[in-house]
Amino acid sequence: MSTLKAVRGTRDLLPPETELWNRVERTAREVFSRYNFGEIRTPIFEDTSLFARGVGEETDIVSKEMYTWEDRARAQSEKAQSLTLRPENTAGVVRAYIEHKLGEAGLLQKLYYIGPQFRRERPQKGRYRQFWQIGAEVIGPTSAGSESPLRDAEVLEMLASFLDELGISGWRLEINSVGSALDRPRYVAALREALAPVKHLMCEDNQRRAETNPLRVLDSKDPNDQELINNLPKIADYLDEDSKAHFAAVLAALDACGVPYHVNPRLVRGLDYYTRTTFEFTHGGLGAQNALLGGGRYDGLSENIGGPKAPGIGFAMGEDRLILTLQAQAEQQATLADYYIAPLAAELNPAALELARELRRKGLRIEVGDGSFRLKKSFEVANKLAKKIILLGEDEASTGVLTVKDFATAEQTKVARAELA
Ligand code: ATP
Ligand code: MG
Repeated sequence: MSTLKAVRGTRDLLPPETELWNRVERTAREVFSRYNFGEIRTPIFEDTSLFARGVGEETDIVSKEMYTWEDRARAQSEKAQSLTLRPENTAGVVRAYIEHKLGEAGLLQKLYYIGPQFRRERPQKGRYRQFWQIGAEVIGPTSAGSESPLRDAEVLEMLASFLDELGISGWRLEINSVGSALDRPRYVAALREALAPVKHLMCEDNQRRAETNPLRVLDSKDPNDQELINNLPKIADYLDEDSKAHFAAVLAALDACGVPYHVNPRLVRGLDYYTRTTFEFTHGGLGAQNALLGGGRYDGLSENIGGPKAPGIGFAMGEDRLILTLQAQAEQQATLADYYIAPLAAELNPAALELARELRRKGLRIEVGDGSFRLKKSFEVANKLAKKIILLGEDEASTGVLTVKDFATAEQTKVARAELA
């Protein structure tokens, strides 16, 4: 008999790793509760049409990634119902918002969820068929301020706080505005026009997208198509005054609270329901699957699935990718010294040891090289052992201003000795 294994793209989470999962979830609950979010738990499967209408027929998720089946009819007169394992949770949350008339109180609903999602994708590092998302939504009637750019900025600031509190360093926030429901058709028309004469030069996927969903061409990762894509019209040039002002207000609020961001005019995201603000937090340590989380505003989603007008903004984090990032960081932290001190001549060895003593006393992890090493060798050894190298030459020893190179960023800077810790 052949042995049974977990289905391709699914996996068991075992101790001690599950402890890390619990820490991530605990931190999310703690941080979100400080922003007064409450938890929602929606069913793991829903009527297929919720995703078809809510996420969009032309999206990758709905067109090729869903686990869908016909439920058995209970009686002969009954039609079999098409059901789908949820590929994402925003549609389910908005369905629940409508079903329970959560908007009738006239207040904003601030809801978060933690749970598994299912997509039939090619499994690889950071990409599974059952994966976990931690997400949140702010949704409500316009009179409750649900369209305010302050809500967008608050959600983004919460995410920055969450990642910082979790100890994830080196995240990058990319942000864009895809405009309102009025701006988008004008932009899509311009895209179609610009794509028409060049699409035959693009990869097969992009040729298809150019027909069915031209916005998707923008987030294509195909290396051969990048130059053509960079020359396509930018959505920023198609935003109306309201959308422009909204986006400017989001960025101003981020500036005010010191959350760093990068405007990326190509960021359109994979779901049809987004309007205005869209964003992603990426992390370099994740390789090809570099998105830690994605989100945006969805002012028309509720109406799309038969509800009242209820603008909203939300995000979904890939919990699996948060875990991968934390594990990679922990591995690096465990093995790398903070600094490798490279004395540039044997006479400087005593000064190097003295500097090492000073930094170790401040709690830093230090490796000291040897002044007899050639510079090239010092760099090679340092790169294996430490995050940064300090070059200690005659000048540096006398002035107390040291040359420091950070291997992660390849940046070389002058740092005063007292500021090294
Ligand atoms: P990607 O471009 O990586 O396919 P996506 O745009 O499909 O991401 P979203 O639908 O926005 O992703 O989901 C939000 C987050 O959920 C992603 O940023 C990612 O961290 C995570 N995620 C999405 N699909 C998977 C998957 N198959 N396995 C693990 N995590 C996933
Ligand atoms: Mg995807």
